[in-house]
Amino acid sequence: MTTTGTRVLVLNAGSSSVKYQLIDMLDGARLASGLVERIGEVEGRLLHLPLTGEPREQVRRFADHDGALRAVADELAADLMGLDSPELAAIGHRVVHGGLRFTRPTLINDSVVAEIRRLIPVAPLHNPANITGIEVARAMRPDLPQVAVFDTAFHSTLPEYAARYAIDRKTAEEHRVRRYGFHGTSHQYVSRATARLLGRDPAELNVIVLHLGNGASVSAVAGGVCVETSMGLTPLEGLVMGTRSGDVDPGLVFHLHRVGGLSVDQIDDLLNRRSGLLGLCGDNDMREVVRRAQGGDEDAKLAFDSYVHRIRRYLGGYYAVLGRVDAVAFTAGVGENSAEVRAAVCANLEELGISVEPELNAVRSRRARTISPSYGRVTVAVVPTDEELEIAQQTFALVHEV
Ligand code: ADP
Repeated sequence: MTTTGTRVLVLNAGSSSVKYQLIDMLDGARLASGLVERIGEVEGRLLHLPLTGEPREQVRRFADHDGALRAVADELAADLMGLDSPELAAIGHRVVHGGLRFTRPTLINDSVVAEIRRLIPVAPLHNPANITGIEVARAMRPDLPQVAVFDTAFHSTLPEYAARYAIDRKTAEEHRVRRYGFHGTSHQYVSRATARLLGRDPAELNVIVLHLGNGASVSAVAGGVCVETSMGLTPLEGLVMGTRSGDVDPGLVFHLHRVGGLSVDQIDDLLNRRSGLLGLCGDNDMREVVRRAQGGDEDAKLAFDSYVHRIRRYLGGYYAVLGRVDAVAFTAGVGENSAEVRAAVCANLEELGISVEPELNAVRSRRARTISPSYGRVTVAVVPTDEELEIAQQTFALVHEV
């Protein structure tokens, strides 16, 4: 495919929001970024952040994704970087669920959209919005290469014994039940960036990546290949998160339904939106949880300890899965910013070669950095994630492949 442009527009369409970044692939510069939120509500908001100049805000109704994306296109055009500019090489779309079919970035055509649509039953919250974003962008620039980058793709290398639940095989196959994993773009980016930080080849490095944001997941990456991850069929499995429970006994669902009288939808809402840190202490922002815990609040302390305990269980488990661990990388909102969480996760693990140097851990920075002492057998690092850059790079590489 021939294209002379060097810019990629990255779109991340959620159910009521669209986030975007226009990135120049020559130097990775963000030429513009922004978001539209509360799409469909009476009062929505667009925030546009140009590379130079003041941020611009529109507070008004954005009836649907079509209206929202048109407003974004107008903002970019006002900066002379509209969707019709020749510098634009491609649009990269974040798509949450690629099922078993999409294991790499994929050039979008009608049949790809149809296949992403077929995956809606396994990703009812995310894929419909992602498809809407793709359809609106394709309608606006039908001639421009558009690429889908899947959150599940990096985890498609999980061995079968890690990807399968121990349930009846026919039932699993009929309903496409298996562990897909999520946050893959971040785990991929951070595992490679960790190798770069260490000056090592990703192919010779074993890394445990702790992506701790609102949603949170751990992955074990052996020589650049993901071999285990904590999210499963849905992004509910695994760690304690902001509002999600993570692992529970599946019997809890039957119990709440049969004994508690809750409907399936109520249990879904409970486990996804009213659990995790929020369920345990009433706050889902780690800053607030830490502040309250330090002030002696018992609920916040319990929430913090549960959050950390779950991460440590996975850390130990993935250590055993990998056999040898070269690095542990903390990333995303909590991982990049909370020295308290990092210190608690790594406490008393000297026998495993894991420890953090308090002075290094206390440093606040947006750069990738090491926080373990020089004698530590395992490098502990803070590595800021950049999912948009990863999507842009994968998109750009694909349109230049042919
Ligand atoms: P998302 O999963 O929505 O992309 P982020 O990776 O941006 O989330 O993480 C958001 C979370 O990061 C917030 O809910 C907050 O708990 C946490 N966070 C952000 N800054 C700090 C900080 N300075 N200290 C502790 N936690 C923080």
